[in-house]
Amino acid sequence: MSALSDLINLDVSGSTDKIIAEYIWIGGSGMDLRSKARTLPGPVSDPSKLPKWNYDGSSTGQAPGDDSEVILYPQAIFKDPFRRGNNILVMCDSYTPQGDPIPTNKRYHAAKVFSHSDVLAEEPWFGIEQEYTLIQKEVKWPLGWPIGGYPGPQGPYYCGTGADKAFGRDIVDAHYKACLYAGINISGTNGEVMPGQWEFQVGPSIGISAGDQVWVARYILERITEMAGVVLSFDPKPVEGDWNGAGAHTNYSTKSMRSDGGYEVIKKAIEKLGKKHKEHILAYGEGNERRLTGKHETADISNFKWGVANRGASVRVGRETEKANKGYFEDRRPSSNMDPYTVTSMIVETTILWKP
Ligand code: ADP
Ligand code: MN
Ligand code: MN
Ligand code: MN
Repeated sequence: MSALSDLINLDVSGSTDKIIAEYIWIGGSGMDLRSKARTLPGPVSDPSKLPKWNYDGSSTGQAPGDDSEVILYPQAIFKDPFRRGNNILVMCDSYTPQGDPIPTNKRYHAAKVFSHSDVLAEEPWFGIEQEYTLIQKEVKWPLGWPIGGYPGPQGPYYCGTGADKAFGRDIVDAHYKACLYAGINISGTNGEVMPGQWEFQVGPSIGISAGDQVWVARYILERITEMAGVVLSFDPKPVEGDWNGAGAHTNYSTKSMRSDGGYEVIKKAIEKLGKKHKEHILAYGEGNERRLTGKHETADISNFKWGVANRGASVRVGRETEKANKGYFEDRRPSSNMDPYTVTSMIVETTILWKP
């Protein structure tokens, strides 16, 4: 085994200038992360200097078999924490050979929204709290849960410590450091209310980079759980009953909200979000109706309500923001399996571009 890990960790930089680039993309389900590797002649730091590539879209549910080629456009580069050295991870999006974004390419539209001059002027920041559940591979039951049974009720697990309360911390911490190494703006982690459930936060990140960073952080977590033999779940409600679901609270601010008197701008933005509640819910993740029940620190899916320090609201404003009369707010509705390109760009479209 050690000869094998020696080879995996082999530093090839003394023998060649070549590097390995792992191209990452989102597959046909909208949640499956795919990747493949290629050799490049030397280090690259600008995505526009990277070659386009292609894949078999008929194997990812993204193209018919008789016209299967999908083209990958490199969009963002991160350092590769698995191969290290000058090796890189490359977040890509997908196009037809004619150059049109394929239907599952949500980044294309988001990038357009974020390059609008009114949006650029507002420098939108996002802080995304990605919750997820670790699942025992063989029995498809959360990590740390007795097989065929349940752990004690919720209460001791949130931010908990100890062998009977925290399950999978090695994965969580390995992921934290791997993200920092990669250049992801990861801002923290914590154990969640349901045992076996965890959270990491990405942000504040500006514009389209929030989506790129969340997707690559998800990719790194898939790779680490793969090594650990644990299954990663983004299901919004992995266990029915008196167990918390998994969300992706999206914290948001614009330049005007962060400036003096910004609370007024925040209130206007929240009012607009309320008017488009239905549209947002439709785009905020599949199966979210199982999570947004009005219980377990959520608001009911069919009613929009906001409040200061209210964790049972759709949108929450922090005490600090109220006190400072400026800051940011939290959209608590997105589920853990949401697409961050869709959610971030939609929030910006509704709050900045929409003029009712
Ligand atoms: P919660 O109290 O809801 O658990 P977290 O601390 O988990 O919140 O996450 C809050 C996220 O919001 C962090 O990623 C943080 O970096 C981000 N954030 C902080 N300030 C802002 C801001 N002005 N605009 C957008 N996001 C912000
Ligand atoms: Mn949080
Ligand atoms: Mn949380
Ligand atoms: Mn939150």
